[in-house]
Amino acid sequence: MSTTYLIQNASLLGGDPTDLVLRDGVVAEVGTGLQADGAEVLDATGLVALPGLVDLHTHLREPGREDAETVESGTRAAALGGFTAVHAMANTEPVADTAGVVEQVWRLGREAGFCDVYPVGAVTVGLQGERLAELGAMADSAARVRVFSDDGKCVSDAVLMRRALEYVKAFDGVVAQHAQEPRLTEGAQMNEGELSGRLGLTGWPAVAEEAVIARDCLLAEHVGSRLHVCHVSTAGSVQIVREAKARGVDVTAEACPHHLILTDELAATYDPIYKVNPPLRTRADVEALRGGLADGTIDIVATDHAPHPHEDKDCEWAAAAFGMLGLETALSIVQETMVDPGLLDWAGVAERMSHAPARIGRVADHGQPLAVGAPANVVLYDPAVRRTVDPARSASLSRNTPYRGMELPGRVVATFLRGRPTVLDGALV
Ligand SMILES: [Zn+2]
Repeated sequence: MSTTYLIQNASLLGGDPTDLVLRDGVVAEVGTGLQADGAEVLDATGLVALPGLVDLHTHLREPGREDAETVESGTRAAALGGFTAVHAMANTEPVADTAGVVEQVWRLGREAGFCDVYPVGAVTVGLQGERLAELGAMADSAARVRVFSDDGKCVSDAVLMRRALEYVKAFDGVVAQHAQEPRLTEGAQMNEGELSGRLGLTGWPAVAEEAVIARDCLLAEHVGSRLHVCHVSTAGSVQIVREAKARGVDVTAEACPHHLILTDELAATYDPIYKVNPPLRTRADVEALRGGLADGTIDIVATDHAPHPHEDKDCEWAAAAFGMLGLETALSIVQETMVDPGLLDWAGVAERMSHAPARIGRVADHGQPLAVGAPANVVLYDPAVRRTVDPARSASLSRNTPYRGMELPGRVVATFLRGRPTVLDGALV
C-alpha cells in the first residue's frame, strides 16, 4: 500500500493556507484542518503548492550521448526542478524517428521513475529534412507521440512542413518548429547586431527566426492545423505570434528561462557557456518576451535543457556546442523575471509551466488543477529563500549552467509524482 501524505498549510497557487491529502496516487482531499490517519505529515507553511511542472522541451541525450545525460540523470534533474513530466526531444543518436526508438525512450523513463517521459518524434527521417518520418507509427506506438519536432534543426522546406502539419491532424498532434532559416544563419554564432560586429563573431539575425515563424503561421492557417513555436527569442517573433493568434491561427509558443534573463552582451566574455540556439538577444527582446509571456502571447515556459559534456563546451566560442542546462533552475528564473516583478502570479506560473504545456502535448495525466480526484502531481516551492547555483550539486551529468555562482530566489522543497515523493526536503528520494 502506498503512503498517504497530508500536506498542511500550503499556499495553493500562492493563495490562502490549504491542506492537501495525497492518497492512492490522487489528490484525495483539499481543505483546511484536514486529518488523515496514518499519513506522513508535511508542514508546508510558507510554501507555494503548484501542479507538477511539465516541460515541453528537454534534451535527455539518450540513446547515443549518455556521456552528456541519460534518461535517468535528466529526469532526476527534472524532479529536483519540480517537473513531473518532460518531453524528450528527438535529436538523439539514433534519432527518435521510429516507433522503436520512441518506445525505448518512453520505457527508460518509466524504469527510472522520477518523472514521466513523453518522447517527441522527429518530423523528418534522421532530422535530414528530406522526407517525413513515420509519424503515424510513432503516434500509434506505446509512447503515443503527439509532439513532433526536428528541434536542433529547422524544417525549412515549406512542402515538408505543410505535409507534416497536414499529417498530424489525423491524431491531434502538433508540429513544434525550431525556427531558424538555415541560409540566413550559416556559421552564425551570436545575435546579429553592433556587438557581433565588434566581437568578430558571425551574426544571427532576428529575421532568420521571424521569417520561419511567419511562414509557418500562414501554413498552419492554410491547412487548419496546430503549430507550436519552440524557443521564441525576438521581439519581432512575439509580435508575429500575437498577430497570428488575433487572426485565429492555432499557434502556441514557448519562451526559455535563459531568454527571459540573459542578454547578448554576455557574448563579450567569449565564454561558450553563453552560446545557445537561438542566441541570447538584446535587452529589448528580453522585455518583449516577458511582456508576451505575461499577456499570454507566449503560452508556456519550456527549458530547452541542453546538457553538453565538458569537452564540448570548454573550448573556443566558435567550436563550442550550442545549449545550456535548464531543468533545475527554471522555476527560480521564472520567479526572478516574472513573479517578483509582478508580471505573473503563481496561478499564471501554473498555467504556463503545467496546465498549458500538458494541453499542447495532449498529456492528460499532468497539468490538472490541484482538485479532488486529480492525479497527485504536486510541487512544493519555497519562494522566500535564496540560493547560489553550484553546478557540482546538479543531478545532471553535465555542468553547463549559465547561472554558476548566481544567487537566485526560491527552492523546490518537494515533488510528488502520482502521490509518491521524488523529492523531499530539496533532495531526491
Ligand atoms: Zn531548438
